[in-house]
Amino acid sequence: MTPRIERHDLHGQGGREHEVYDMPARPPDDWAAVTDVPCPVEGCAQTVLWYEAGYVPGYRVCMARIAGSGAFDLDTIRHRFLAGLAIGCGDRPNLIRDDCCEREKDDNG
Ligand SMILES: [Zn+2]
Ligand SMILES: [Zn+2]
Repeated sequence: MTPRIERHDLHGQGGREHEVYDMPARPPDDWAAVTDVPCPVEGCAQTVLWYEAGYVPGYRVCMARIAGSGAFDLDTIRHRFLAGLAIGCGDRPNLIRDDCCEREKDDNG
């Protein structure tokens, strides 16, 4: 999916440009459009999952399933997003890619 580029302030440290993915609608629940759905990042085959524990409402990450299991593998977290719904952004469900935190994780090993 090709993202739009929009300016958002995800961490209260000033706005910067982020990729924004408009997600296929799943009425009547807009949250269903951004939870347990295929990751929208080009070339990624993982699943976008709820990941709000200890973090902020609307946070999502993509993960892969553990082979032979219904569970997901935390070690496979690759892409990070904030649902636009959580910050009143957009007139349809979208995911704002938190790419700055993806890089941080890479840097820390
Ligand atoms: Zn992904
Ligand atoms: Zn970030």
